Amino acid sequence: MASSFQPQTFFDRLAAHPGEDVALSDGRHCLNYAQLRTLFYEFALTLLVPGQKSLGGERIALILPAGFNYTVALLGIWRAGGVAVPLNVNTPPNEIMYALSTAGVTRAFTDKEHQQVSDSLCAELGIPLELCDTHNTSETISERDIPLPGPDARALLLFTSGTTNKPKGVVTTHGNLTAQVNTLLEAWYWHATDVIPLFLPMHHVHGIINVLCCALAAGARIEIFESFDMPRLFEGVANKTYTLFMAVPTIYVKMIKALDDLQENQQAIAICQGFGNMRLMISGSAACPVSVHTAWKKHTGQVLLERYGMTEIGMALSNPYHGPRKPGTVGQPLPGVELMLVNEQNQAVTGDNNPGEIWVKGPNVFLEYWENPQATQDTFSEDGWFKTGDIAILETGYYRIMGRSSVDIIKTGGEKVSALEIESVLLEHKDIVECAVIGVPDETWGEAVLAVIVLEESAGVLSVDALKVWCKSCMSGYKVPKRFEMMRALPRNAMGKITKPALAKLFTR
Ligand code: AMP
Repeated sequence: MASSFQPQTFFDRLAAHPGEDVALSDGRHCLNYAQLRTLFYEFALTLLVPGQKSLGGERIALILPAGFNYTVALLGIWRAGGVAVPLNVNTPPNEIMYALSTAGVTRAFTDKEHQQVSDSLCAELGIPLELCDTHNTSETISERDIPLPGPDARALLLFTSGTTNKPKGVVTTHGNLTAQVNTLLEAWYWHATDVIPLFLPMHHVHGIINVLCCALAAGARIEIFESFDMPRLFEGVANKTYTLFMAVPTIYVKMIKALDDLQENQQAIAICQGFGNMRLMISGSAACPVSVHTAWKKHTGQVLLERYGMTEIGMALSNPYHGPRKPGTVGQPLPGVELMLVNEQNQAVTGDNNPGEIWVKGPNVFLEYWENPQATQDTFSEDGWFKTGDIAILETGYYRIMGRSSVDIIKTGGEKVSALEIESVLLEHKDIVECAVIGVPDETWGEAVLAVIVLEESAGVLSVDALKVWCKSCMSGYKVPKRFEMMRALPRNAMGKITKPALAKLFTR
């Protein structure tokens, strides 16, 4: 059957929704699409000096949590032809400083809560900081007309998560943004009747593109949380408020623990039914262990849809909406995304179980690393493929991510092993709640497989020998970790991703 999907730009879509439909709600107030359009257009005008038609790619930072202000400011910056630089409000000052100066930010917006910290940082860099209060704008849209930014205009500058090295500024254009949104609207059947909670950090594609922009492009309703608030979320779920849900694996882990701890009462049943009632629940941004897929299905009946993407490309692979979803895999390329696996000789690999680096091409692929032409050049092949740095295999039509080539592919005794594969097996052990597998230099093995594990609070004493025996029963001998280290919790970034270089530093001897 031919798809009826119409490609349209993000702003065209936004302009078309019925004004009275609710766009955003924060639990106390609502903003409908007519109000949102007025507010962000007004905000765009306030960014321009009289006579100015466009910000011409000026970088403007947002030091704001998810909320009305954040949304209005983001859309307003885009509408005025600026580049939005959303920063993590919970990040240490030195990292905010790094981002502000690297991106050449000229203005920044914050709120009262984050004003004090932002003030001193911006003052040090000579960047004017303004309080963002878009709630009370009651002026009508002025007659002044400003042009919409074209598809090649830069829109967004996001910093990579820096789990493997120093964060780089990833620049995406309005054309990229439209492509990244459209592919998800089509693949995941977004609709104006959808209602989605948004509790993800707002300096990352997951929250910005997959949730905020897709929902606004679809004319759907977003319930905004300033941060992850499980009681408020569960209340909304129990009331069957939401149709769609997107989270990182660590959020599912937290919710599984909470559901495990709940007594079998009416409230617990209503929460599980509320999750079961949604039309789609998605996991991504890090590998979702099979044990999490299984536990989630047991509690809610939902089969999670896992997808794969990154800051530079938005989303690239997704399990199907209609067909079977396979835990531990990330499905097939999304509409409009070209993808291949490439070996170390730069040749495309075909057939099942042959590992290769994921290379991606398409209108979703970013423009450049900000002011870093060398890094941009190094990351593209001569014929324009973006080299992701992730290794995958194909298994009966579904891609399986083996991990980042720089940290997750461990070369031990002449074999290459995937850290993600070993982690997924270790998490099947009843006493292990978290784990990270890394390679550490070793005289005998070149690299030795080391597993850092966090044990269940109620777990008794677990000897390394017993663990190794258990591992041998479920993985090939060369994959069994040579060393085990225990921690109370693993170091993670704001997206819940384990920062493996920190572990490697800690345990390399
Ligand atoms: P970021 O740019 O912060 O979104 O990080 C992107 C990286 O996260 C990718 O390059 C992958 O290494 C990893 N990633 C994203 N989704 C998945 C997934 N479903 N499974 C495994 N790794 C993933």
